[in-house]
Amino acid sequence: MSLNFCVLASGSSGNCSVIWTDKAAVLIDCGCSARYISEKLFEIGINPQYLTAAVITHAHIDHINASGFNFLREYNVPVYFHENILEDTYVKYGDKVCNAVPFNNSFNIEDIEVNHFDAHHKDGKISKTLGFTFSSTVNGRGYKIGYITDTGKICKNIVNSLSDSNILVIESNYDKKMLAGSSRPYENKK
Ligand SMILES: [Zn+2]
Repeated sequence: MSLNFCVLASGSSGNCSVIWTDKAAVLIDCGCSARYISEKLFEIGINPQYLTAAVITHAHIDHINASGFNFLREYNVPVYFHENILEDTYVKYGDKVCNAVPFNNSFNIEDIEVNHFDAHHKDGKISKTLGFTFSSTVNGRGYKIGYITDTGKICKNIVNSLSDSNILVIESNYDKKMLAGSSRPYENKK
């Protein structure tokens, strides 16, 4: 048994990672082209046909896009969206949105327990961004992977959610000029 993680793409031009056990494989975000995601999954020995689910952190184009939806539709992958993020995504992509499974609370995907918390990343077009933790038992011992992206700050709740992770994944960058010129709320810019 094992709990595995791999970043397939990271950065402003596209984000996608995958987490997997012997029983499940879960994509985190789908902001790249369908072809790229397929190729990268095959490279690490995962046939996209066997993806169990996808989770989406927020509705920005580098985390979910039209080509990503084509990929998810082609392989019939259930896509777990927080209700607010699903709404944001419908506004942007309308009938491109497919296989949506709305959630509010923590949930399980086979042997992976998925919990979520709020990241500080909003603008005029998106109302919510989530970080996730993924927990699973390997050979009788519990392991946890923490994942957070795009957050403008780290608060107590984020620290509490991530503090006992065995693996912590942080996707971040900082450009003072870009930030100043963005439409993000002053609180996050600060
Ligand atoms: Zn974003």
